[in-house]
Amino acid sequence: MRRFEMILPSSVDECVKALATHGAGAKTVAGGTDLLPQMKNGLVKPAVVVDLGGIAALKGVTNGAGLRVGACATARELELHPEVRKRYTALADGAALVGSVQVRNLATVGGNLCNAAPSADMAPPLMALEAEAVIAGPKGERRVPLSAFFTGVRQTVLGADELLVALVMPAPPVPPEAGLYVSGGSYIRHTPRRELDIAVVGVASQVTVQNGRCVKARIALASVAPTPVHATAAERALEGQPLTPERIEQAAGLAVEAAKPISDQRGSADFRRHLVRVLTRRTLTAALARARA
Ligand SMILES: Cc1cc2nc3c(=O)[nH]c(=O)nc-3n(C[C@H](O)[C@H](O)[C@H](O)COP(=O)(O)OP(=O)(O)OC[C@H]3O[C@@H](n4cnc5c(N)ncnc54)[C@H](O)[C@@H]3O)c2cc1C
Repeated sequence: MRRFEMILPSSVDECVKALATHGAGAKTVAGGTDLLPQMKNGLVKPAVVVDLGGIAALKGVTNGAGLRVGACATARELELHPEVRKRYTALADGAALVGSVQVRNLATVGGNLCNAAPSADMAPPLMALEAEAVIAGPKGERRVPLSAFFTGVRQTVLGADELLVALVMPAPPVPPEAGLYVSGGSYIRHTPRRELDIAVVGVASQVTVQNGRCVKARIALASVAPTPVHATAAERALEGQPLTPERIEQAAGLAVEAAKPISDQRGSADFRRHLVRVLTRRTLTAALARARA
């Protein structure tokens, strides 16, 4: 590994100033589980590394009208957080699948999203939950829907002088607010090995149901395109309809339209399309069961 300068800001402002000063030569580090292997392998060679670990505003999970997840909240925190497990189940599912317990104790949600791997396990659940990215830069804060955050493989809308501060998302409705509305979510991925493997395909579904009919469906896919994508045709096919097994099967077929997979050593494009259909069916069925639970 090459030598680099380390900066330890204690606030978002200090961090933004450091990034603005050093430009593209600087890299932020949170848990380091993506960045350090990349540095070790010479894939990235920052002259300056800015450690986010001392910035209190990036930490924690706050539950109110919706959920605010600090960019430095770890996968382990999300996996175990009682409110996330109860109301934001797809996110708890995705967080629980990242690496091993040792990795999850370090791996942050911000790092998972900003690394922008097509297989990132926390991206589809957050997209299905309609999260927005809160981004800080020299001109202040801006918000970007997570569905518009990713621009390519390992590319996001973040400028070199910006950092991700948090994810914010609306609360899915639950009784008693909704005697009529209920909502549930699920994320499932396929990997050849049970642990320490990345998704060949991952699917997150979130459904809101009123009087037996779907009023909102959000389905997001990982590892089938350069960025995580919404299965919009499948979402539209469900809205306004009763979530019968036949309707779910039809939506699972439509979800395949959103997938533009490649063939690689992990699976062929055809196998990935097959997985999209199967995992969409399974996550929709699980989401509906959780909504009714
Ligand atoms: C053994 C192993 C297994 C893994 N298994 C999985 C898996 O199953 N699923 C999965 O999705 N991932 C997996 N990963 C990848 C990794 O653990 C996750 O992507 C993790 O969430 C990255 O978070 P981090 O805090 O470690 O990121 P870091 O390595 O600290 O940062 C990653 C990138 O994001 C940038 N960054 C970090 N935080 C911010 C911020 N707030 N604002 C702007 N930029 C930021 C950094 O500059 C860097 O480019 C695995 C990694 C390892 C080593």
